[in-house]
Amino acid sequence: MKKNIFLPCFLLFAFPTMLCADIVYQGKRVQEWPEEARPTFNNQNTDKPSFLLTRTPVTQNKSHYAAPKGKIYSLTLLVDFSDKPAPVTVKEVEEWLNKEGFNKDGCNGSVRDYYLDVSNGQLDITNEVFGWYRAKHPKSWYENLKDYTGSDSLMKEVFAYFDPQIDFSRYDNDKDGTTEAINIVYAGAGETWGQGLWPHSGWSNEKRDGVRLTHHQMTDMPGKFSIYVFVHESGHMIFGWPDLYWYGDYCTMGNRANDLNPVAINDFYRADQGWIPFVDVTSEDVSLETTKPNEVCYRYKNPARPEKEGLVWSYVRNTGRDKVLKGSGLLMQHYDFSIEGNSAADKLTLRIVHANAAGKSNDNVKDQWPNPGSDANAFFKSGTYSEFSDDKYPAIRWYNGSKTGLKITDIGTPGETMQFCIGENCPAQESSSSVPAVLLSSSSSAPVVSSSSNAPNPASSSNIKSSSSVKPTSSSQSGSTAIISNFRKVSKYGIPENKIFNVLGKPVGQRTASGELPKLPKGIYVEFVK
Ligand SMILES: [Zn+2]
Repeated sequence: MKKNIFLPCFLLFAFPTMLCADIVYQGKRVQEWPEEARPTFNNQNTDKPSFLLTRTPVTQNKSHYAAPKGKIYSLTLLVDFSDKPAPVTVKEVEEWLNKEGFNKDGCNGSVRDYYLDVSNGQLDITNEVFGWYRAKHPKSWYENLKDYTGSDSLMKEVFAYFDPQIDFSRYDNDKDGTTEAINIVYAGAGETWGQGLWPHSGWSNEKRDGVRLTHHQMTDMPGKFSIYVFVHESGHMIFGWPDLYWYGDYCTMGNRANDLNPVAINDFYRADQGWIPFVDVTSEDVSLETTKPNEVCYRYKNPARPEKEGLVWSYVRNTGRDKVLKGSGLLMQHYDFSIEGNSAADKLTLRIVHANAAGKSNDNVKDQWPNPGSDANAFFKSGTYSEFSDDKYPAIRWYNGSKTGLKITDIGTPGETMQFCIGENCPAQESSSSVPAVLLSSSSSAPVVSSSSNAPNPASSSNIKSSSSVKPTSSSQSGSTAIISNFRKVSKYGIPENKIFNVLGKPVGQRTASGELPKLPKGIYVEFVK
């Protein structure tokens, strides 16, 4: 049996007319934070990360969600009850939240370890723990209050009790007047979802020590350690990510796949944070890509709505934080920020584009509601689903119904790395000793891989990549003669018999035995050099 059936959120799906969300804003349950309540983060005032993993840190200039960087301080307040005394010690809670390699009850690291991992070492959330405070009433008293009033009154009580010993302004990490992360951990298990006390992310209007204690989250502590709930609620509270219903196991903001080793944050959100770089692709690009898990997120924006809608994909492998997934390969997603939340089955802010489906998230895919999970056939990979194109997936369209224009072919086998061709007829890759592909074009500012914002070009930071992208100019331009002359000028002599390709990646000729260029019509060509 799937234990995720018992996720409190999903109980509500038995009543499909009700919204399911565990964000509570001013007395109302919401799919995601309303505009005025979205977490924000001003990175200018934060410390640098206390340490970094081996990868080069990259930053997105403009993230859709709040994107804290470096070390941030989070406050955790512990509360227990006369009928439910503290089941663990303060020290144990500190270890659960902060200790490197925490493994009690089978946890894969602490909460801090989780976010260090998924952020590639760029976000260090350190929790400072206070408690236990014995609540004024027994737990049953709060549990019997309607809607959010039980958790609301407990929250107010906890804030008031700890105020004399805590400087809340310490937890306004970016000094914008609001705190980023206040956690209330209460003794005992969550019992009823949406009433009394239950794990959720909430909102407060209280002001203490000169700061507003806006976003907070509540997590239960039944006595056995697991990190999923804390990690998930932190996702709402710190970053403002919504619940990803109709999404499955592929993100910790989706389904509750594993409590002890929760799945990673999806690569689109990770790239939005700047934890991995985006690589932007257009329909005119032809490029043979080799990629690793946790390396880049490819993005193809809808040319008609580039700020709102796009397709993204990356290599996801079912190891480590993604161990719970049932397959590996290229995982594709469709996002549209103009859609609020993931509450409707057909139009979602973020949905998986299943390799095995006609393209609608509710189209006979096995990993969605009512049995959320993951499916090996959701991934694009050699043998089963080695191509994505408008022809192969006639149901996958932009939300206005138009074709995407994206084509990915020759999708390879998941291993340490994975290959695929953006466009079609990518030239065969040279041996691993070859240097990255060199693009020859008329433009002196030849684009290679266009990486979003300030993110370093992954082609230059990784030896395994061999990538190029071409943006041809119109052949009717008067400047097209210059293209060929420029082309000849910059590459008159080259490696004898080296192949020359057109912008679609098709070989169109080769250099002579003396290394001179073949006769070619006006245009832009690509040459791979050793
Ligand atoms: Zn949630």
